[in-house]
Amino acid sequence: MLWWFILACRHPERPTVVLFSIDGASADLIDDEWDNLSALPELAESGGHYPAELYGVSDTRAAHARMLTGYPASVTGVYSASDWLQIPPDLSAPERLRDEFEDDLSMAFIAAKPSMIGFEEGETFFHVAAPFDVAENEAFSTAELGGKMRDAVDKLSDRPLFAFFHFAEVDRWGHAHGERSTEQREALRSVDDEIGRVMERFEDRPVTVIVTSDHGFEEGTNTHTSNARDVFMIANLPLSNVISQSQVAWTILDLYGLDPDEYSPAPEHDSMQ
Ligand SMILES: [Zn+2]
Repeated sequence: MLWWFILACRHPERPTVVLFSIDGASADLIDDEWDNLSALPELAESGGHYPAELYGVSDTRAAHARMLTGYPASVTGVYSASDWLQIPPDLSAPERLRDEFEDDLSMAFIAAKPSMIGFEEGETFFHVAAPFDVAENEAFSTAELGGKMRDAVDKLSDRPLFAFFHFAEVDRWGHAHGERSTEQREALRSVDDEIGRVMERFEDRPVTVIVTSDHGFEEGTNTHTSNARDVFMIANLPLSNVISQSQVAWTILDLYGLDPDEYSPAPEHDSMQ
């Protein structure tokens, strides 16, 4: 496959990788606030800051299903916030990592939107979240989330880690006050602060970080379900110029030395709606 943007060795290895999802943060919001942020620009300095394409319905449930599995709705059954099935087992990057590394890898899932990325029995992400050693998902504030993320990093410091860390308040304030409102901007600055504090916990421990979003908002509104696809990707390693959100899961596998082409269904479903 030519479109993989990471050139990893094709043998399994165990890096530490953290995927941050800033729910509801559009590419424009990030750009507008760039000069007021510190953690994200610092990450981008050693890697990059890119536009990212988002396929399908631009809502939290559908976009996270793509982000964590790399598959379209026709494979996962997750078409939108209201039209969804439980993602079938063994399709997601976390499950594939657990299958490959068993107990040699720690995994943490900290999120703040149980209504959309719920992982209880019967919920969309039940199988996706099953392999995580630490899995928490409640309507936590940004500060509470940061504390939980730092605790998870500390607690799981004896082995390499894969973490999925999700922040919800940028989305919440976008809905309450609109895209790029003062409140939403402040929420993004708080998230940036917390990401910085989580990063400090890694100290000399090498970590690969990818920061993205599930959707933005429709221009000048407080909604995002029809066409809010201008998202971004920030990473502390170089990526290609235009990136599809569906490549996140495959990129994570690639970072762990796993060959995306060896999985079924094949990743070519990437551009399907
Ligand atoms: Zn969302």
